[in-house]
Amino acid sequence: MRTISTILIMSIAITALSSPQDGKKSLPEQKDNFKYLTEQFADAKILRYQVPGFENLSLKQKKLVYYLSQAALCGRDITYDQNFKSNLLIRYTLEAIYRDYSGERNTEDFLQFVTYLKRVWFCNGIHHHYSTDKFMPGFSQDYLEILIRNTPDGSLPISNGQDKRQFVKEINQLIFNPNVAPKRVSLDPATDLVVSSASNFYDGLTQREAEEFYDNMKKEAKQNRQDTMISFGLNSKLVKENGKIAEKIYKVGGLYSQAIEQIVFWLEKALDVAETPQQRDAVKKLIAYYRSGSLAAWDEYNIAWVKDLNSLVDFVNGFIEVYGDPLAMKGTWESLVNFKDVEATKRTEILSSNAQYFEDNSPVAPEYKKKKVKGVTAKVITAAQLGGECHPTTPIGINLPNANWIRKEYGSKSVTIDNITNAYDQAAKGNGFMEEFAFSKEEIDRAGEYGHLAGNLTTDLHECLGHGSGQLREGVGSDALKNYHSTIEESRADLFALYYIKDPELIKLGLVPNEEVAKAEYDGFIRNGLMTQLVRINPGKTIEESHMRDRALIARWVYEKGKDRNVIEKITRDGKTYFKINDYDALRMEFGALLKIIQQITSEGDYEAAKEIVEAYAVQIDPELHQEVLARYKKLNIAPYTGFINPEYTLVMKGKTITDVQINYPDDFATQMLFYSKNFSFLPVR
Ligand code: ZN
Repeated sequence: MRTISTILIMSIAITALSSPQDGKKSLPEQKDNFKYLTEQFADAKILRYQVPGFENLSLKQKKLVYYLSQAALCGRDITYDQNFKSNLLIRYTLEAIYRDYSGERNTEDFLQFVTYLKRVWFCNGIHHHYSTDKFMPGFSQDYLEILIRNTPDGSLPISNGQDKRQFVKEINQLIFNPNVAPKRVSLDPATDLVVSSASNFYDGLTQREAEEFYDNMKKEAKQNRQDTMISFGLNSKLVKENGKIAEKIYKVGGLYSQAIEQIVFWLEKALDVAETPQQRDAVKKLIAYYRSGSLAAWDEYNIAWVKDLNSLVDFVNGFIEVYGDPLAMKGTWESLVNFKDVEATKRTEILSSNAQYFEDNSPVAPEYKKKKVKGVTAKVITAAQLGGECHPTTPIGINLPNANWIRKEYGSKSVTIDNITNAYDQAAKGNGFMEEFAFSKEEIDRAGEYGHLAGNLTTDLHECLGHGSGQLREGVGSDALKNYHSTIEESRADLFALYYIKDPELIKLGLVPNEEVAKAEYDGFIRNGLMTQLVRINPGKTIEESHMRDRALIARWVYEKGKDRNVIEKITRDGKTYFKINDYDALRMEFGALLKIIQQITSEGDYEAAKEIVEAYAVQIDPELHQEVLARYKKLNIAPYTGFINPEYTLVMKGKTITDVQINYPDDFATQMLFYSKNFSFLPVR
């Protein structure tokens, strides 16, 4: 599970950060004049991020980062293909035009073409990474035809027996026809979720058939006394061929074999430079899983991975998060290579060593609490490479593994990615956002002073404690909430964080200096959940993305429940809407009350209750407020979404010996994307 940056919460004009002497949090040392923001297009901006501390790693650790980084890039095309079956075909076509088109480039149309291609790179496909809607180009079908006609046939992925006219027609349909693959992930309960989603996890079957297939599989496993705890369906595409339903497994020799073989190649290199026997064991098991495709092997790997606590360098690599599947079963491929920020990790170590306190004292009903919280390990990390679904857009916090039973029996690892949040904060300095949407100077100053700490601490609490807290009632499956699962799960983790960030215990533990940190977080959360996150949504649309639904659900629920006591006040000033918190303690109690409800829904697997609360609070938008917020935001000229350029690692050789690994920070998004496409594309285009 992951935390995605709220960006808009994460504060903006950071004037004062807690000093290193606080023993809490300091920003990594900055290289002078490091350029974070490189460009902006459509609703996206591109940042670079630094990898402070890389130079101080040992040669062996640097090699490990290098090998794992290569493995992180080898699965890139898998993510594209999982997102939509024609994504690779479209990307190859657009890249061929970008490279080899012989016509005039200095035109508005060509600029629009480049913007469209950049959006495809940004989203790993033709659907918006966040709303999952298909986005439309700013040029015409006729222009696309001109582009294709003036690009050499040999560069284009024209299939055998297809002439250029047919090829043009095919690509035009895919890109421009609003009825072809309109949405990557449909969560509309009135539709067949499988049929109405363009993501490429099912082919030729209905939601009911897919659900029955896995229900039967689970039943059979139970009857045959096989492993019933595995994450059924996680690493496969489910297809119906000649009337028969079958799973195509992602593995060496199976679906995506060409890319997976490359991943395995680099993982084998990593074996030789693993830091600890536990890490070596984990990498070995991951390789075994990629070879067999067995989900029991996947669980074995995860257990080994959770046990590897002493390595400085760590990584994620696999079919992991299920947000891309409307039935929340299929994992999208992702990778993250990182190393521990030892100093900042002291913060999360305090949290995790007190995990039982937080579990015991939460407002959740006793039967849904873990009697004994197992090994929640949390660290602050420095990202060294992002790949697959984690790139170019990336989470700022991750808690894995996702399998509930492993979390319960073996614990989980939770991370906050500090160099990424730092890049966000640095790039957002002085962009005018807070001045526009915060009610008072007091709020702005508070965000400036405590926003970075509040944001990171909330991520720690969310990932390290929130997702790991609570337990399901015996017999409740983790997929019981189906299309509402992700929203409810994210709400649960957010509420846990919101409830505890204002706990006096945090001050006692030395994690926060005073109550202002919690207030900064509450200000930002309420402002975002009730108002500013709407800048990410086009007029007339509803809220669909799970993290956004989660934030709307929480903010609106507490606003409504506290209305009679004026806990949160809606104020109009000069025609502009603001939300001001009048009673922070009462608000904390509301967060606690909602946490209790959400935990009950989760623990009982109560689909109807999940549906009711999500549909009531998290989906619809007040069109008037929406319009106002969009207009105010537009004036600021800030792109609401952020993607990152990865650093580049180069081996320094002396003869056949690696003597060092150098890190560079490239600053051109398109160049990096083309480099990846050239060097890390292993899958067939069709
Ligand atoms: Zn989360």
